Amino acid sequence: MLRDLADKAALKPDDLEVAAFIVREPNGDLACRLWPPSAGRRSEHYDGPLPVGTMAIAHSHPYYAPLPSTIDVAQAKRIGLPIYVVSRWELHVVDPISGERVRLLRGRNWSGIAERHACSPMTTLR
Ligand SMILES: [Zn+2]
Repeated sequence: MLRDLADKAALKPDDLEVAAFIVREPNGDLACRLWPPSAGRRSEHYDGPLPVGTMAIAHSHPYYAPLPSTIDVAQAKRIGLPIYVVSRWELHVVDPISGERVRLLRGRNWSGIAERHACSPMTTLR
């Protein structure tokens, strides 16, 4: 599902972010719920309550800024959930306890591969 997010981000101008909740469904499946699109450049934000079962937040960064931002680190600590940052060539995650930025993938174009777990738009919050 993170690949799908990377794909969706790759289809957009580089400064537009795509963001989603990674949610554990009641049946145990993981799902990826896209945030409603906002018009802001590099400013995807979501002000509502976290959906039930949210395990992480994931959003895209442009290829030239693959590292989680200080805002991403602060947000991970505030909400107590890992934040994944996907870009065309890299995948990072912010540890919500330590604030450490961990690189999970680097140096290959990992988007564009058929993805079983496609991200779907958020329809309901609760
Ligand atoms: Zn970010």
